[in-house]
Amino acid sequence: MGIKVRVLAGITRVVGVLLVPVAFCRAPGRARFVACQWALGMRFPAEDLRGLAPDALAAFTRARAEAFWRDGQLIGLTSGHRDAVEQHRIFGEEVWRTGSVEAARRRVLPPEESSHVRGLALDVRPTEGAQWLERHGARYGLYRTYDNEWWHFEFRLVEPVRLPHPGAAAWLAEDGGLRVWGSWPV
Ligand SMILES: [Zn+2]
Repeated sequence: MGIKVRVLAGITRVVGVLLVPVAFCRAPGRARFVACQWALGMRFPAEDLRGLAPDALAAFTRARAEAFWRDGQLIGLTSGHRDAVEQHRIFGEEVWRTGSVEAARRRVLPPEESSHVRGLALDVRPTEGAQWLERHGARYGLYRTYDNEWWHFEFRLVEPVRLPHPGAAAWLAEDGGLRVWGSWPV
């Protein structure tokens, strides 16, 4: 982590502490929770939590409050909910960039399959925050789902099988074993 990032993290932690009394006036029972969300919103001003499914939003904000107050880790949201039009555009750009639908699916899924469109996926930052979430997120139903995306987490009721990439699929074979296929059959 660079010096600037460390200094900003330190300032954010101090701001969080200073905001607790203000948050107490607004939400007496949840002052620390609210104060840390405010502080993180200042540190990551571009983040947009709107459109996330209520359970996913609750899990994310509760998890990052624990990271903030217990371990001093900051977790910001790079990308959460995307509407179908935006996802379609991102997918189309990836197809154009990589030259094929199959290659594009290793990084981006079309709208009808994307958990971002359903409000259940969260791309987080920085890497240290993502590592914290990978270690502790299961308590909140937040799981890293792809080997090739350290930043991508999903809210799930059951722990998912971690796949190599978004285009991969897993299923139970007749012998009860788990199979992972690199890509959907075309
Ligand atoms: Zn993602």
